[in-house]
Amino acid sequence: MARLFASTDLSSDISSDSSFELSPAVQSNLLNDSFGRQFQYLRLSITEMCNFRCTYCLPDGYKKCAGYEEPLTVAEIENLVSAFAGLGFWKVRLTGGEPSVRRDLVEIVARVASVPGIRFVALSTNGLKLHEQAESLRRAGLQGLNLSLDSLDPAVFLKMTGRSEHQKIMDGIDRALGLGFRSLKVNVVLMKDLNETSLADFMEWVRTREISVRFIELMRTGRNKELFDRHYLSGQVVSDFLTQSGWQMRERSHGDGPAIEYHHQDFAGRMGVIAPYSKDFCKTCNRLRVSSSGKLRLCLFGDGDLSLRPLLQNSDDREELMARVRHLLSGKSLSHSLQEGKYGNTWNLSAIGG
Ligand code: SAM
Ligand code: SF4
Repeated sequence: MARLFASTDLSSDISSDSSFELSPAVQSNLLNDSFGRQFQYLRLSITEMCNFRCTYCLPDGYKKCAGYEEPLTVAEIENLVSAFAGLGFWKVRLTGGEPSVRRDLVEIVARVASVPGIRFVALSTNGLKLHEQAESLRRAGLQGLNLSLDSLDPAVFLKMTGRSEHQKIMDGIDRALGLGFRSLKVNVVLMKDLNETSLADFMEWVRTREISVRFIELMRTGRNKELFDRHYLSGQVVSDFLTQSGWQMRERSHGDGPAIEYHHQDFAGRMGVIAPYSKDFCKTCNRLRVSSSGKLRLCLFGDGDLSLRPLLQNSDDREELMARVRHLLSGKSLSHSLQEGKYGNTWNLSAIGG
């Protein structure tokens, strides 16, 4: 319990902990692709539904499409995570859609956190229910939180997400700050003429808060071409702003994903940029994705959806499931083709979880 309520410690974020050691048995079993990348991080969508209307993701709100499939049950999720743990995966991020629309979210976190081999469970959320769920999630074993917060200005936030509950979300974040999460990150989708002027506000915000704010370049999906053409802005503006403000790039560590983070001695938090359009973005890819209905996605912007669900019904199928994932990984390509305007069958990120 004492550890549960210790303060957040960005410096010991296990997701980038170079002292983190895997046992020799797990080491020899790790998943590598044909380009030498190693995969230890599962991003699992637990629902495609959402209660927000982010302009870049679900501008008209969530609507069930033809071909809708029910999300994985808790038992299916447990079987899935157990197989990935057998392949050396130690980190799981639950995402969506909006995971908190599921009533059994706390139970899902608890079951995933108790799978042998899983060392770190995180959640991506829009934060709407955080003020009421933060403590129970933390108690269930959640260690990392990734919150979407596109602006500190309620009016801009409303424009970008369709929701007016800005203050409720800010309260939820402040509540989470006191709960000793090992990692607290805020994601901001960078959009020209909307929130590009918010860099200084966020910088000031992390002066006293141990939060890592990361600006994500707007990504083109199947449904947002017009918006993309109007609002895309290169993440370079963030890097330039930070270096001009005296921030320094943090050295990359084992397990780091594609985010580039900056630190400054006068600030408790960090700032960063996630730039999928940059040249080397896919070189550091260390994750596999599974959709809410159990389809393996080798790349966020890939074409194929490879169903694992038939092998999630019985825990006795674990070895076969592991073999299937190993086999499917051989189809992972070196890079997405976003720069060429290709986005696979990704209509929006709510379907697979960003
Ligand atoms: N609903 C949760 C949330 O918003 O955090 C989890 C799912 S959401 C799809 C995951 C992340 O993807 C969020 O940080 C969101 O801002 C980001 N995202 C969604 N669509 C995007 C786009 N077109 N370009 C860049 N980031 C996007
Ligand atoms: Fe919902 Fe997250 Fe998409 Fe916003 S980004 S519409 S909160 S799934």
